[in-house]
Amino acid sequence: MRILIISLVFSLLAGCAQNPVTGKSDFVMMSEEQEIAIGRQYNEQAIKKQYQVYGSKALQDYVDRVGQKLAKHSHRPNLQYRFSVLDTPEINAFALPGGYVYITRGIMAYLNSEAELAAVLGHEIGHVTARHPVRQQSAAQAANLGLAVASIFVPQIGSNLGQNLVNIMGGALLSGYGREHELEADRLGAQYLARSDYDPQAIIRVLRVLKNQEMKDAELAKQEGREPRRYSGLFSTHPDNDTRLKEVVGEADKLASAKTFEGRAEFLAATEGLVFGDNSDQGVVRNNHFRHGELGIALKFPETWLVHNLPNALIAVSPQGAARLQMKMDHKPSGSPVEYARRLAGYGAEIRSLEVNGLSAALFDLPNSIGGVVYANKQAFILQGQGKTRQDLAAHRNEIIDTVYSFHALTAEERKLVRPLSIRAISARRGDTYAGLAKNSPLGKSAESYLRLINAQYPDGEPQVGQSVKIVE
Ligand SMILES: [Zn+2]
Repeated sequence: MRILIISLVFSLLAGCAQNPVTGKSDFVMMSEEQEIAIGRQYNEQAIKKQYQVYGSKALQDYVDRVGQKLAKHSHRPNLQYRFSVLDTPEINAFALPGGYVYITRGIMAYLNSEAELAAVLGHEIGHVTARHPVRQQSAAQAANLGLAVASIFVPQIGSNLGQNLVNIMGGALLSGYGREHELEADRLGAQYLARSDYDPQAIIRVLRVLKNQEMKDAELAKQEGREPRRYSGLFSTHPDNDTRLKEVVGEADKLASAKTFEGRAEFLAATEGLVFGDNSDQGVVRNNHFRHGELGIALKFPETWLVHNLPNALIAVSPQGAARLQMKMDHKPSGSPVEYARRLAGYGAEIRSLEVNGLSAALFDLPNSIGGVVYANKQAFILQGQGKTRQDLAAHRNEIIDTVYSFHALTAEERKLVRPLSIRAISARRGDTYAGLAKNSPLGKSAESYLRLINAQYPDGEPQVGQSVKIVE
């Protein structure tokens, strides 16, 4: 342990290394071996704990093939790159030091060709070759150099160093690497695309789709009173108005071959059946019905509300966000539903015992909180409604109570509906419109917007006859 720490500190003090992209000396205090070791450590300790790898071997292989082709044409062709598709609806892609590159199935739903997939991977490879994750860390390490040196004498602090690195990395992954590094990754990615016979402009197309997605999500978030989901690599401006982005990508056009490969059909074939939205292990929401196979329960939220099935919470929000209803679960409830509700709501609350579709339950009423407790399969499900103001809550009282009353054990018929949504490409027929395709879509209220977004025809544009259009079913 001590030897390891000492050698780490020595190499920290060894100072500058040559940057693989610029060839110039860089303030990077880390050898390539250390870089790979940190990537591996972060992959094991953070990524694998937070995410699952997407289950399709065919898709993993396809992404790896495209990634390896780009990596071969990068500034660090000898590094061993590992490309993984993560099983999450989050829209993201990121890279760790040493060649670990991740892309989520969430972002893949919004891509429309192999060139666009290559654009995302090329950008991330650009972060790796320019050593952005390491440069980011080096600055932080430099600030912590005192701590690192001190650790020779206090091994315990030394063992925290690894943890600190993980924390620093986490910050960079969430927030991106800052404008300059992002532009550099785009510039490098564009070069790798050109050298691999893809059109460098695919980067702009991808950023346009993601920016539209982000803006639509911000609009929905406002209606729903939640934080918008942000793609970490994006900047504040729209790529169409971003002259510097156009410049750095445009430089690579000179390197591009006359005949570039778009690979739309190849990409659509590889992503046929891709899971979209929730995976069924956290239950599924369809037209405001929530159903959970493993828990064996179902309920229906008010029609106009927006339901968020988050990994650790189920939340429904009224239009304009005046009221919200959250469902929680207790694996080991004690006492009857009435006793449970009494403990939860306190003695000031009005509590009613009742039966909901054959399940024992209780309702509670307080000026600032209304809801119910339902027992099913030895577990307690707690529905708790709250309002921005007491008036807001009172105005939504009936809808909250109705939701509690809709709670029931999952029927055999419903069990069939608990499956994830997936993407399929169809050939557009005469008269097909996004509004038409959105009818009967399991995506519900925002179906037309989502279909336009995943087909890169947002906010307007309609399918042409014979065009391959992605639908969700
Ligand atoms: Zn980036």
